[in-house]
Amino acid sequence: MIPFSPPRIDQLIIDEVVDTLKSGWITTGPKTKLFEKKLSEYYNTKATLCLSSATAGLELMLRWFGVGPGDEVIVPAYTYCATANVVMHCGAKPVMVDVKKDDFNIHLEKVAKVVTPRTKVIIPVDIAGFPCDYDKLFDLVQQKNIQSLFQPSTPVQEKLGRILILADAAHSLGALFKGKKIGSIADITVFSFHAVKNLTTAEGGAVALNLPEPFDNEEIYKYLAIFSLHGQSKDALAKMQKGAWRYDVIEPGYKANMTDIQASIGLVELARYDNDTLPKRKKIFEFYNQKLAKHPWAILPPTMSDDKVSSYHAYLLRIDGIDENKRDNIIQKIFDHDVSVNVHFQPLPLLSAYKKLGYRIEDYPVAYDNYSREISLPVFYDLTDDQMERVVEAVIKSVNTIR
Ligand SMILES: *Cc1c(COP(=O)(O)O)cnc(C)c1O
Repeated sequence: MIPFSPPRIDQLIIDEVVDTLKSGWITTGPKTKLFEKKLSEYYNTKATLCLSSATAGLELMLRWFGVGPGDEVIVPAYTYCATANVVMHCGAKPVMVDVKKDDFNIHLEKVAKVVTPRTKVIIPVDIAGFPCDYDKLFDLVQQKNIQSLFQPSTPVQEKLGRILILADAAHSLGALFKGKKIGSIADITVFSFHAVKNLTTAEGGAVALNLPEPFDNEEIYKYLAIFSLHGQSKDALAKMQKGAWRYDVIEPGYKANMTDIQASIGLVELARYDNDTLPKRKKIFEFYNQKLAKHPWAILPPTMSDDKVSSYHAYLLRIDGIDENKRDNIIQKIFDHDVSVNVHFQPLPLLSAYKKLGYRIEDYPVAYDNYSREISLPVFYDLTDDQMERVVEAVIKSVNTIR
């Protein structure tokens, strides 16, 4: 069976993890701090905080911004549930917006229509690693009629004076918008290092801080490091220093720090990300594109445009002229050929948790249409040429049988 996206675990990773295990320091410490520094250098932003997951990062930043009951946060209907779940955790309302047919990303003209005086944050998602249009997003939140609606209810909101752009970049580490890496564009960008993501630390996430003047991103980093560790004035490593046992708890914070074991995997992965990981993923995309392009039913995923370059996270193939039921049957057939595929994503209004709250899929026709004909193909570092060939054959045979 060809798997869908196993992590790349080689001797370099194992050696670095063992090095951490033997160092005597396994939780947040020097390797996490080094990983944060390397990430900030990688995407050229002011500060990065590493955490236990992207979900924790998104929630932490919503809470930092003061999002709570009565507030609205705009999210795409087509994303992983984490994007909206964190809004629910804060007691706020996820306002879902339909997506675009061409690239699966949130439809900005439709965003403009749902902004209200309660809107505090927009969470755009770079689906499959293809960036949203960040220039248009910033234009939108700074448009006079939109910005004048904004009603700040905390000092931080007052300081920003507009809707916060909190990017869910779980898929898009290494992607480019107008030549700049994702992580240096939105106000705040959150990455995921979950096992299936482009760069993994088993579980993990990072928050890239890029807030405009007069925010001091270094200061915010320091505050968030404390806020994500019980509000403790010193972390475990600082307390270990001679005679430095006494600490204070400044506020009841969260517990979402990254460990040095996770960071050691991330350090190895980051060092080879641009010159090894991304080229391999790109090669897989190009192979699939080249083999599938000649079939009139194949709708290929976008990977490049005048101002965007994908991080090649997920290969979201769509099949023209089928419905959801046929798609499911094609997937079954592909599995019968011993090839694992997936669907990215079930739009949130299809999930029980959101259906119960009254979201209706009929209100998001493009999200449903994209989903109903979508099949994600395997993309991972160790995928061989022979396996890629088998994936394509399985897809073509299965589509021809069912369609
Ligand atoms: C994976 C994913 C997340 C959550 O990442 P975790 O690190 O598992 O919390 C959030 N958003 C999207 C779009 C994802 O695919």
